[in-house]
Amino acid sequence: MKFGTKAVHSGVEPDPSTGAIMTPIYQTSTYVQESPSKHKGYAYARGANPTRNALQKSIAALENGRYGICFSSGMGATDAVIKLLSPGDEVITSNDLYGGSYRMFKKVFEKFGIKFHFIDLTNTANLNAHINKNTKLLWLETPSNPLMRIIDIEACSAIAKKNNILVAVDNTFASPYLQNPLALGADIVMHSVTKYLSGHSDVIMGALVVNDEKLHQELAFIANSCGAVPGPQDSFLVLRGIKTLQLRMERHCLNGKIIATFLQTHTKIGKVYWPGFSDHPGYVIAKKQMSDFGGMLSFTLKNDSLEKATKFMESVQLFSLAESLGGVESLINHPASMTHASIPKEERIKNGLSDSLIRLSIGIEDAEDLIEDLELALNLV
Ligand SMILES: *Cc1c(COP(=O)(O)O)cnc(C)c1O
Repeated sequence: MKFGTKAVHSGVEPDPSTGAIMTPIYQTSTYVQESPSKHKGYAYARGANPTRNALQKSIAALENGRYGICFSSGMGATDAVIKLLSPGDEVITSNDLYGGSYRMFKKVFEKFGIKFHFIDLTNTANLNAHINKNTKLLWLETPSNPLMRIIDIEACSAIAKKNNILVAVDNTFASPYLQNPLALGADIVMHSVTKYLSGHSDVIMGALVVNDEKLHQELAFIANSCGAVPGPQDSFLVLRGIKTLQLRMERHCLNGKIIATFLQTHTKIGKVYWPGFSDHPGYVIAKKQMSDFGGMLSFTLKNDSLEKATKFMESVQLFSLAESLGGVESLINHPASMTHASIPKEERIKNGLSDSLIRLSIGIEDAEDLIEDLELALNLV
């Protein structure tokens, strides 16, 4: 089955009791049993809920994976992956990472004796130099947030596999429409469902998708034991959002290309970070592992300063100044003080994330209106 058809149909069956075409919101905490040892597959809703189950099947199908597990947030999903590890284990990850992931790794898990190496993974050869007998997990994020760097998932997974290292990919920026890491050798795909999968800026949720049955059981055990599960109402909203994922992504990609090209040729713009430019350092790999280039991009103004960037972000009208991404509406964001404020400044600057970088999440509006808005704001700086 092709992607658009799966987005509409996967996981969703007519409700057995009424034939309702859309999965009902099973708003319940528990299920009545016939006898102590006999139930219909549902005992207590932290463990399982039919609305959540339908969504888990849908997301797994979109990633061409066997098992999906949903969490109350993207960070909840990431937390479950790190809890597969033990004190003394080491993780290799990239140096251009979602700020919240960096914060969780450094501030929460290091004190439990897990060591994290933040390195430049755009050069796959760097990986070998950091692997040792304690390395248990490779955590990749590509395209990266906010610099749109590209990591070769297939090459990294091949090296990891040789060393018995588990590979997890944060696939939030690409969405399952653009990139399917399991097919490239990854063991775990993570999504902040909050973003493209939900798509309407009204839900916080996370998900993991895996193929291995034992890994699924371990992660489902952690989800149920630690309890970061989503509610049925949110599961319903995401099931609804996913039905239009293909249509939305087509438009995000089209608008992304138009806006990236507009900015690239504008006299007041410094540098534009978008993997669809043929001179982007990750272009060849992006073309290989993604089906298109998406609607996320970052840029700097020419002769930029924090004041100028701030003025620009305050001047746009149609773009909303807000954290998050992947919704139908276009957003503008200042990574240094918003999404990536939890990364120490020296670390941030060292990794190329300047104080004046501006990030855009291009929505599905008419591109002409978005360009007019950017043009007006550019005239003011
Ligand atoms: C938003 C985001 C997360 C965290 O997800 P939440 O749903 O906000 O907890 C993780 N990774 C990336 C790339 C994100 O954009």
